[in-house]
Amino acid sequence: MSETPPVLAQGLQLDERQRAMLAEMGVRLWWPEPEAPAAPAPVPAPAPTIAPPTPRPSAAAPAAIPTAPVVRPTPAPVAPKPTVPLVPSSLSHLDWPALQDSMRACTACPLSQGRCNVVPGVGDHQRPDWLVVGEAPGEQEDRQGEPFVGAAGQLLDKMLFAMGLARGERVYITNVIKCRPPHNRNPEPAEVAQCSPFLQRQIELLQPRIVLAVGRFAAQSVLALAGVDEATRSQPLGKLRGQVFRLPTAQGPVPVVVSYHPAYLLRSPAEKGKAWADLCLAMAQLKPST
Ligand code: URA
Repeated sequence: MSETPPVLAQGLQLDERQRAMLAEMGVRLWWPEPEAPAAPAPVPAPAPTIAPPTPRPSAAAPAAIPTAPVVRPTPAPVAPKPTVPLVPSSLSHLDWPALQDSMRACTACPLSQGRCNVVPGVGDHQRPDWLVVGEAPGEQEDRQGEPFVGAAGQLLDKMLFAMGLARGERVYITNVIKCRPPHNRNPEPAEVAQCSPFLQRQIELLQPRIVLAVGRFAAQSVLALAGVDEATRSQPLGKLRGQVFRLPTAQGPVPVVVSYHPAYLLRSPAEKGKAWADLCLAMAQLKPST
């Protein structure tokens, strides 16, 4: 694995296991030297500009929440009006088991013809704190019927662990597209349009406290559900990350943070520090307000 730029760790409270996991992710940490008398004053840690959501009383705090996101978050865009249709009435009445059945039986697009398994999602579906949204199942996911089980999934598991989370505990993991595109090609806009209502109904039923969208397709799809205008959500991922969007739901707005896809991080390990900064920004949204 190539060397990545070190990430400022000042203010982080990480136990040994989390440090080891960040090292596994390829994120190198550094702490500033004690200040010398003539040294310039340190730059203050950037404070997220978004008010955190009201904490759910039952939600356990992550094992360690860093206090200093590495990137300075830009102000959240003014919440635009939703521009996408609501879940079709055929889905909006479905409970969780019926929704699972509906996804497994779906033949709405040609992807259904080439699949071994539908991949609805995995994890805690009883009001998890986190919803992680990826792009589409790959070969292994299609074979096993579970998202993120390949190499990218192993990195995602390490990222979750570094955040004090684990697959299945306080986290639900899904994809925008529930069936594997042939040869792992990018999903077609029509396929995204067909599958998005499933994601929307999953969000309604899961009621996550935060959504983490990894990769460009996930970002664009979740931001479309959030009513973010097309010009904004079509920006490169590097421009969308580092800020907090809001997804309107019946329970109130849910923060959405966008970051790099773990598969991209495997190809571009130098970006892992930025991904960690995004995770810190996301974790900061769940901190109780003081
Ligand atoms: N990439 C994704 O976006 N999702 C998966 O489930 C696997 C790889």
